Amino acid sequence: MAGDQRTAMEDMLRKQRAVATRSRPEDLSARKDRLGRAIKLLKDHADDFGKVMSADFGNRSPKQSMITDITSTVNFGKYCLKHIDKWTRPEKRSVQFPLGLLGAKAEVRYEPKGVVGILSPWNFPVNLTFGPLMQVFAAGNRAMIKPSEFTPKTSLMMKELVEEYFSPDECSVFTGGADVAAAFSELPFDHLVFTGSTATGRKVMESAAKNLVPLTLELGGKSPVLLGESADFSTAGERIALGKMMNAGQICLAPDYLYVPESRQDEAIHGIWQATATMYPSLLENEDYASLVSDRHFDRLQEMVADARDKGAEIIEVNPANEDFSSSNARKMPLTILKGVTEDMKAMKEEIFGPVLPVKTYAHIDEAIDYVNEHDRPLGLYYFGKDSTEREQVLTRTISGGVTVNDVVFHVSMDDLPFGGIGPSGMGSYHGVEGFREFSHARSIYTQPKIDVAKLGGLKPPYGSATD
Ligand code: NAD
Repeated sequence: MAGDQRTAMEDMLRKQRAVATRSRPEDLSARKDRLGRAIKLLKDHADDFGKVMSADFGNRSPKQSMITDITSTVNFGKYCLKHIDKWTRPEKRSVQFPLGLLGAKAEVRYEPKGVVGILSPWNFPVNLTFGPLMQVFAAGNRAMIKPSEFTPKTSLMMKELVEEYFSPDECSVFTGGADVAAAFSELPFDHLVFTGSTATGRKVMESAAKNLVPLTLELGGKSPVLLGESADFSTAGERIALGKMMNAGQICLAPDYLYVPESRQDEAIHGIWQATATMYPSLLENEDYASLVSDRHFDRLQEMVADARDKGAEIIEVNPANEDFSSSNARKMPLTILKGVTEDMKAMKEEIFGPVLPVKTYAHIDEAIDYVNEHDRPLGLYYFGKDSTEREQVLTRTISGGVTVNDVVFHVSMDDLPFGGIGPSGMGSYHGVEGFREFSHARSIYTQPKIDVAKLGGLKPPYGSATD
């Protein structure tokens, strides 16, 4: 990376912070205006974004992009606009008796932190950049963004459009590779949001620690699906297939592995097979089905399947049109279900992030619960079933970032629910009022009454009977 790029980022941070400080107190209308412009940018260029994301992936359905990257983010911006007055209102807090009677007052004001850095990934490049940005703006901050190098056309377009819709001191985008990202994560921001892998998250945390920059880490992990005996296996199959196949499994919350009752494994697999074949009767020429983002990602998944085969797993490919994937360079891969997996397989050690689905079996649900608890705390956890006692057992005995019951992934699409991981799947969250607070400084303001409280409370020496 050229040294002048590092200097340009440092200069921009200084400039944004100076303008942010000078502008205080900024009227709420300025935040609303920025939110409005971010929404307008997305709406004005929705189709262009669809095309450019498809070009970056090799193929990615513009219709899917409209749902996952544009409409959802626009709606989230509108949700922020709707709640911003309430979120920003100072909150009265209680003071200990009898201070209230004496006229003491306490309140919390949610104030802008200053300049927030946003480091975003490629899998939902627009959503995972503009989603955090909406709440960074709602909280009254300025933003600097470093989008992913794996979707270079989309990243460039975001840069050009941000330059058109915002002044550089409101929001600026810096493009480039991992070296630029590493330098970006070393900047002394007032807050940094990173969305990406757990491995890179560790590096980001190390860099941020040097300046004690507060962090939101939106990471990945292996999100399990626990299928209870009482589940409707056919509906569950449809829902799991939809969540697994969207974006070709390149979703941080995609169902990573399936845990099913021993005696009903084939029924569960059949349900997913059937639903996948119905949604995607063919794959290679099917615009609805996304390509894997790069040759590296494609090769990694091929190796993962080969490793499982070598170690004894049964491989079930969902290839309803019997297409020959080996002679294509479209980086498309059919859903590949792995039966009979063991813990030494890569598919059970690494986050999958693609159309590969290992299936494990249990004799009793406790085994699945214990398994989840013995592994890294996942970003999402999914339970299917009508048995409320079993559902509560699963929910109360496990820990995960979030949960969807009787479906997968959906909790992230609820604007009012905080979204985030726990432990290796992340820290902090955005969405909901929690996201606004994440990017705000909760400033405590206590006002002392006229009366000498210190004397009344016996705090002032010389200490006498009042302190006994
Ligand atoms: P990644 O960690 O490889 O890269 C993410 C970003 O980090 C990129 O923009 C990259 O430029 C930057 N980066 C690379 N090296 C860096 C360094 N040394 N220091 C600082 N930044 C660096 O992740 P990815 O492959 O783009 O995305 C896939 C991963 O992201 C998966 O693990 C997935 O689960 C996770 N993810 C999480 C969420 C969530 O909201 N929790 C959402 C999407 C993806």
